[in-house]
Amino acid sequence: MTTSAEEIKAGKGEPLVVLDRVNKHFGSLHVLQDIDLTVRRGEVVVVIGPSGSGKSTLCRTINRLETIDDGTITLDGKPLPAEGKALAQLRAEVGMVFQSFNLFAHKTILENVTLGPIKVRGEDRAAAEKRATELLERVGVAHQAAKYPAQLSGGQQQRVAIARALAMEPKVMLFDEPTSALDPEMIKEVLDVMVELAEQGMTMIVVTHEMGFARGAAHRVIFMADGAIVEENTPEEFFTHPRSDRAKDFLSKII
Ligand code: ADP
Ligand code: MG
Repeated sequence: MTTSAEEIKAGKGEPLVVLDRVNKHFGSLHVLQDIDLTVRRGEVVVVIGPSGSGKSTLCRTINRLETIDDGTITLDGKPLPAEGKALAQLRAEVGMVFQSFNLFAHKTILENVTLGPIKVRGEDRAAAEKRATELLERVGVAHQAAKYPAQLSGGQQQRVAIARALAMEPKVMLFDEPTSALDPEMIKEVLDVMVELAEQGMTMIVVTHEMGFARGAAHRVIFMADGAIVEENTPEEFFTHPRSDRAKDFLSKII
C-alpha cells in the first residue's frame, strides 16, 4: 500500500512503529519517560534534542538493542520479539545506521552488504550479490565493491552502511546521528542518499541536528529533553515557533 505525501502529512498512514507509554531506566536514571510515539508507514520523523536526552536509547529500543521496563512497542502490529530467530528477523526489518559506520573491517564492501541477506535471510549468493551491486549503485559506491572499509572515505562508508541496511528490505530505517562523525564536505553526500530514500517512501526515524534535512525531508520533528518528548510539530513550525523553553533554548544554541 502506498500513501501519498498529503496523506502522510495529514497523519493518515497506517501505524508502523508504535510506542505506548514506554519507560526505561539505567539504574536511577529514568532515561525514557512515558514515551508515546506513532510512526506511520512512509513517514519521516526527525528526533532532535540535547546530548543525553535519550535519543539513541529510543532508537536502540526499537530494534531491541535495549530492553524496556514497561510499556509496549509494536512493529507492524506485532510486539517486538524477545529473543531467538524472531529477534534476528526483527533486526532485519528495522535497519539501523549509526554515527560510527560499523562496517565489518575484514570484509569487502560487497561482502558487507551480502552477509546479512545470505546469513539471516538465507538468500543464495548470486542473488544477494546482484541486489547488493544495485544498492551500491544506488548509493554511488558500486565502483568500490571489492575494497575494504578502511580504503573508503567516511561518507562512502556511511553510504555503504545504508546499502547494507537496505539489503535486508527493512520496514523502517533508524538513523542515529548518521552524519555527526563525518567531515563537513561528506555530510551532503550522505544526506542526499537519505533524502532520496525518504522521497521513495521509506519509513524513517532520524536522529539528527541537520536542519536542512529536517526541513526538506521530515514530516514531523520530535524534540526530546531529559528522556521525554517535550514537543512535536512540523519542521516549519518547530524551527520557526518552538513552544517550550527547552526547545527555544536548544535551538538558540544550534542555529
Ligand atoms: P542521546 O542519544 O540523546 O545523547 P542517550 O540515549 O545516548 O542520549 O543517553 C541518555 C542517557 O542515558 C545519558 O545520560 C547516558 O549517559 C545514559 N546511558 C546511555 N546508555 C547507557 C547505559 N548502557 N548504561 C547507563 N547509562 C546509559
Ligand atoms: Mg545519541
